[in-house]
Amino acid sequence: MQGNPNDAKDNKQIIFLGSSHLQLEESVNFGTLSRMSELKYRSPKGVHDVLPVDHQYLTYIKKAVRHRARQAGYKRIDPPIFEERTLFERSIGTHTDIVEKELFAVGRKGDTETDYALRPEFTAGICRSYIENGMQELPQPVELYAIGPCFRYDRPQKGRYRQFHQFDFEVIGLSDPSIDAQLIHLVVKIFRDLKILDRLKLQINNIGSSEDRTTFVQALRDYFAGKERNLPEQDRERLKHNPLRLFDSKEEDTQILLRLAPNLEQFIGEESRKYHATLLEYLDELKIPYTKNPGLVRGLDYYNQTVFEFWDSSTGAQNAVGGGGRFDYLLEQLGGKPTPSVGFAGGLERIMWHMQEAGVQAPNKDLVDVFVAQLGPEAKKQCLNLVSSLRDLGVHTVGALGEASLKSQMRLADRFQARYTLLLGQLEVKEGTIILRDMAAGKQKQIPFEKAIPEVIKLIGKDNLDSYSITDKFGEFADPGV
Ligand code: AMP
Repeated sequence: MQGNPNDAKDNKQIIFLGSSHLQLEESVNFGTLSRMSELKYRSPKGVHDVLPVDHQYLTYIKKAVRHRARQAGYKRIDPPIFEERTLFERSIGTHTDIVEKELFAVGRKGDTETDYALRPEFTAGICRSYIENGMQELPQPVELYAIGPCFRYDRPQKGRYRQFHQFDFEVIGLSDPSIDAQLIHLVVKIFRDLKILDRLKLQINNIGSSEDRTTFVQALRDYFAGKERNLPEQDRERLKHNPLRLFDSKEEDTQILLRLAPNLEQFIGEESRKYHATLLEYLDELKIPYTKNPGLVRGLDYYNQTVFEFWDSSTGAQNAVGGGGRFDYLLEQLGGKPTPSVGFAGGLERIMWHMQEAGVQAPNKDLVDVFVAQLGPEAKKQCLNLVSSLRDLGVHTVGALGEASLKSQMRLADRFQARYTLLLGQLEVKEGTIILRDMAAGKQKQIPFEKAIPEVIKLIGKDNLDSYSITDKFGEFADPGV
């Protein structure tokens, strides 16, 4: 996948060779290209494999998200990957790009074929779940977070995929500028952890209450009455169904007309103004820089009051890494009680791209510490336990695999980029020894077989072992009275 918005679909830079992967140089790609065209199957258009090199980044991003979310009291939720289609239509809005053009309808052939849709985002599913699972009975606000794939039938292009990954935060059940400020602060901390904050600019706006917007939309309609002919086809449709979306238009004619059109700011009521001013005060207090952007409306219907996005400082809106806002009426619209809420969603692929552009190196947790090479049936048998014990102790170990010669096993150890190799031949079995080779230094020594494990652990360092225990902290907070 490589997350690089500039990658053409065919320009895959990684190929798999057995269980090891090679990063190909640019110049080799032409060879890959011709081979790719001969492939019987390829991933669908706009969809990418998440390869191990990508996971280094994705795991790192997810770790930062989980860590910061837990610190702030959020709990994880996984809404289903598909939901009833109408849930998305009602919440996101029938006349939005996401619903009109980008929804992946799924279902069985026949009359139910379009009853369901793959989730294009998390908010609708999480709100449905909040209502369905009676979360209004929990102490409010309920803070939930999710990480996972989302699907939009977008035209694949720079930074736009048909399957992509989002992390998502929702704070449901309370309205206060301090909640919006804390949510924005949480996101800022994550971007800082990932070392991309200085590449991004927070854009913020207040789009008022739904009444403010209704009055504004009417004023827009009045302004454009008689001017429709000057709008391109798509924008005429926008004017008809969702005039606010004219502000997302890239068309020059539309932009020119919009310059003299009424603007939303004039229609924002006193209450929303106060709310926004307080939010900006809180952001100042938290030392979070922002750009006030009266043109920011976000393309989804459910927002009101606060809306915000994190834009690429150099390219602006097109490659926003995330956005969010307040949605005080959505839960009621979905059949719940009035439940003011605020949320944010960030795109993992775009974040990953920024990290790579910024030269941030995600730690590689997949390095092979030790390759175990063996020759002869007795050696192979002994190595099975050796490999297993090393793994249990947290040493990344591969080997003791086939029947190849020691020489070709050593070559394999090199290709696995193992730091050390343990070699057990027939002679060593007889002598009760084993050879330990430092691959980078090209030096080796013969040691007693039982010293192999302690010696390897000493070399790697106890702190670097990948050990874990699922009983970690179990019962630590158990009620002493039970
Ligand atoms: P949105 O709510 O549409 O602003 O989406 C939130 C974030 O998800 C965006 O800022 C992007 O980082 C990411 N995103 C949305 N759509 C796509 C897509 N088609 N491909 C990749 N990332 C996306």
